Amino acid sequence: MTKEENKMEKIVSLAKRRGFVFPGSEIYGGFAGTYDWGPMGAALRKNIVDKWIHAMQSHDNIALIETSIFTAPEVWEASGHATGFSDPLVICNNCQRTFRADHLLEERGIVADEKMSEQELNTLFDTVRDTVICPVCNKKDFGQIVQKNLMATATLGKLSDEDKDVYLRAETAQSTYINYKNVLDTGMYKVPFGIAQVGKVFRNEISPRQFLFRKREFEQMEMQYFVAPEDAAAAFEKWKKERMDFYEEIGIRPDMVRYTQHDNLVFYAKDAWDIEYHFPFGWAELEGVHNRGDYDLTQHQTHSGVDLSVLDQDTHKKYIPHVIETAVGVDRMVLAVLADAYDEDQMGEGTRVVLRLKAEIAPVKVAVFPLMRNKPELVEKAREIYTELKKTIPHVMFDDNGNVGKRYRRQDEIGTPWCVTVDFDTLEDNTVTVRDRDTGEQKRIALTDLIMALGY
Ligand code: ATP
Repeated sequence: MTKEENKMEKIVSLAKRRGFVFPGSEIYGGFAGTYDWGPMGAALRKNIVDKWIHAMQSHDNIALIETSIFTAPEVWEASGHATGFSDPLVICNNCQRTFRADHLLEERGIVADEKMSEQELNTLFDTVRDTVICPVCNKKDFGQIVQKNLMATATLGKLSDEDKDVYLRAETAQSTYINYKNVLDTGMYKVPFGIAQVGKVFRNEISPRQFLFRKREFEQMEMQYFVAPEDAAAAFEKWKKERMDFYEEIGIRPDMVRYTQHDNLVFYAKDAWDIEYHFPFGWAELEGVHNRGDYDLTQHQTHSGVDLSVLDQDTHKKYIPHVIETAVGVDRMVLAVLADAYDEDQMGEGTRVVLRLKAEIAPVKVAVFPLMRNKPELVEKAREIYTELKKTIPHVMFDDNGNVGKRYRRQDEIGTPWCVTVDFDTLEDNTVTVRDRDTGEQKRIALTDLIMALGY
């Protein structure tokens, strides 16, 4: 196992052990492509989502909406997802496992164009077919590539077999486009303006893998910025910069993220860049920043028959705004954050595991301990301080389990920036020990200064 694979295993194991992420339906043997958030994961996830929403709402022209997972089937017919949203699937004849053919090719340094037909893909795959080894059973026996649609379907509202299945949305963007006119009609926004959404999406991924990186049910944070055609290029550059700045704001090390431009643009896109993170398994897409032109609104205008144009106040001509999109998955962002924060160092006796999370996104901000759990006067004082801190600081934890050393280790593993210990001196002089997660340094702080010392 390489050092990096080992790191991924350590992150998965820490995530389970400390209540960040549990495998979906675990007691029934798991359910591929699903994971559940534990208490620490739910808090971390929420803090990250809040930061994203806050970043969007720091602009006075970004609206936040929430839309349905189920939408009229026509939405996905208009967008092209119903017929064109697919990945190339190839089956190992020996072990019957399914793989993304483009990923197998990529591992051999061959880039398959997204626009390739099944036949073109098979011709390309034929050049290496005899030598491609199955990552699961190590045999060289792959079948033909078929394009597999990624839309998940359900029978919502279906009363007979003749009724069509409906789609679960595969991205939030389309439900934003179909609501863009409603937002405009409130009179509160005018072009240029953006609509941001956070919401669940579903994709029938052929091979869900790499933990939170590729799930079948996941959450997106997407923002669509509607702009006059002549202003689209400048808006694109502005959003590109702003989205990269966001990663520094949530504490990601700058050398771990980079921009990569798409070589093979989908036919309607004007420009597309990925923010990539250096995951333990290599550089991979974390977020997309796309200049989608007027394609989406034009498609919905044509299919719905509803006029989605706006009037230019100067020229008095109607036009369809262009769209700049920023699109990122919450789950992928959490994985990047965990990978970036995970560290091991030498502290006290032996190696400790620590999550160096930025305080703003850490699931627990402060943990309060009584030095000994069997001394009621210490427990009572610690409870009092805990209750007081909770009034100002979100996510304070009371911990009296095991000895103080063990509690520090537990808090380090969930990334708690500060631990406050109440001892016998506290009862005398109203001071506590505040221990810093990163340095292990301990300071004596007066209770009257505590909240300020913790940065609140
Ligand atoms: P990929 O090429 O990795 O499949 P994509 O280009 O299809 O991703 P988009 O459709 O642009 O991704 O979706 C926007 C964002 O949603 C991605 O940048 C990623 O952060 C997230 N995302 C996409 N698919 C998944 C998934 N299966 N699991 C978790 N997050 C995902």
